Amino acid sequence: MSEADTVPSRGGPVVPSRGALRPVPLSSVRLAGGFWGERQAVNSTATLAHCRSWMDRLGWTGNFTASPFGRRGREFADSEIYKLLEALCWDTDEHPADLGFLTSLLARSQAGDGYLGTAYGREGQDERYSDLTFGHELYCIGHLLQAGVAAARTGRAPRLVEVARRAADHVVETFGPGRNEGVCGHPEIETALVELYRETGERRYLDQASWFVDRRGQRSLPEHEFGWAYFQDDVPVRHAEVFRGHAVRALYLAAGAVDVAVETGDADLLAAVRRQFDRTLARRTYLTGGMGSRHLDESFGDDFVLPADRAYAETCAGVATVMLAHRLLLATGDTRYGDIVERVLYNVVAAAVADDGRGFFYANTLHQRTRTENVPADREQLRFGGGPRAPWFEVSCCLPNLARLLASLESYLVTSDDGGVQLHQYADLDVCAGGLDLAVRTGYPDHGVVVVRVEAAEDRERTLTLRVPAWASDARVVDRTGSRPVRPGPVTITRRFTAGEEICLELPLRPRWTAADPRVDAVRGCVAVEVGPLVMCAESVDLDPGAQLDDLRVDTTVAPQADAVKGWFAAPDDAAWPYQGIGGGPGETRTPRLVPLVPYHRWARRGPTTMRVWLPTTPA
Ligand SMILES: [Zn+2]
Repeated sequence: MSEADTVPSRGGPVVPSRGALRPVPLSSVRLAGGFWGERQAVNSTATLAHCRSWMDRLGWTGNFTASPFGRRGREFADSEIYKLLEALCWDTDEHPADLGFLTSLLARSQAGDGYLGTAYGREGQDERYSDLTFGHELYCIGHLLQAGVAAARTGRAPRLVEVARRAADHVVETFGPGRNEGVCGHPEIETALVELYRETGERRYLDQASWFVDRRGQRSLPEHEFGWAYFQDDVPVRHAEVFRGHAVRALYLAAGAVDVAVETGDADLLAAVRRQFDRTLARRTYLTGGMGSRHLDESFGDDFVLPADRAYAETCAGVATVMLAHRLLLATGDTRYGDIVERVLYNVVAAAVADDGRGFFYANTLHQRTRTENVPADREQLRFGGGPRAPWFEVSCCLPNLARLLASLESYLVTSDDGGVQLHQYADLDVCAGGLDLAVRTGYPDHGVVVVRVEAAEDRERTLTLRVPAWASDARVVDRTGSRPVRPGPVTITRRFTAGEEICLELPLRPRWTAADPRVDAVRGCVAVEVGPLVMCAESVDLDPGAQLDDLRVDTTVAPQADAVKGWFAAPDDAAWPYQGIGGGPGETRTPRLVPLVPYHRWARRGPTTMRVWLPTTPA
């Protein structure tokens, strides 16, 4: 290792060498409490140790030293240790013992040629890369590289950087034209190789990522019952029209394609991913921002196939959507990408973690028909759908994925450019970027006032950009020049700022009815309630005994309140056959009442319950 390798760059997970906006180094931005600061603290003090203890207990960390005959966990279990390592690097606490121990395990297990993985290639195991379709070897190595990048940028675990570089060198020497010309069934290596290139300047990592992106879509993987689309191996990335197949795979691949496009100046590839993302948001995304509506193959459904009660919306897909949207935001400067990041953060990421940081959703349904159950805190769950939050899953990809996102969350909230600084998400933040030293304080999302106090400013003209969310139709900015209305989109304030001045953004949090495109047949005749960035839901724990959520009818002629809607409960007609002629049917007695609502991210935190986001309306 040269000295240059050990000097941390202080960047976060994504540091493009070019683009419209620049990430703010993690050393220059800090969460100072509030909604996200509290969640990051729980992540730091509870979730990281929780993950480590389960990985030890289930033998996943032990795989790196144990006999290959006794290997435990699924074929991708190594990746969970790598994601945890990445989270430990980003975290506000330094975790030297965990980082030292886990890194030493990896270093000892790494083969002489740089290969690292516990599921293949050892005595009694299948050959390396003998199952590219489901072996996940390059997927795992990708997460190792991202952990190595985190180690390099934070100056923690220098040995982990070395392990990651050796593994990357192995990948470059093994895959490519005239060598192994396959791709991994699960994308991830692409974005990881680009980030390692950004950190090290090693061009062949970028070239390798570029080759993997271009190779995808040529049907090099064997035909499978889920189809080539499941692996995004059906159509080349630059020719596809929409995200399809396994949602997490599709989103990771798209993130890697954006990275390659940015670093190689490939405008066509960047435009292709933007087009696919736009169409996916328009036709294949849940109100919560969740993606993926098929349980069988964890995949996107066809356009408008978004059943609330079968929403898969894997937590990892939420994490991946944030990763992708952030990359596109940096590349293009289009603040609309901040809208989807906000939606996913408040309605997928915040929902997926229990208050104590030790329970998690894998899938994020929008309609829980049967009551959730309490699950033991000491037993891993084998099924992933619906509630309740569980301490661990046989497939626990989502848990350390959440941990690494929350540990580095600051890097997704604010950016800078030559002219100044851009606030994309509203949280209690101390940030020094773009020539401005700012303290942002807010009660968001429960309160809509965001106060940006200038602590210090360079003595020249600077621009502060605030994202006004798409839902905020009556927002105002109040500053030393007065009060004025602002429209959704970027709002810029350019001047010589002075220390002590405050800029106040007022976002009205009036509850609003939301209806779905009628082509989302599954929720026709229903409405949802949103308050600011929060999707709301009704839970049976708030109902009178005997009342059933699925019998609820809401009255949309009465404006929704922030915490309730007006409605009544229809008398169910449990006929022997649930289909009847139209125009008849029993009448119903309407007894209006207020039905409580809670933010969707709060659901299933008060004991067994049913839940629905989409609320049936008055029959026509
Ligand atoms: Zn997952």
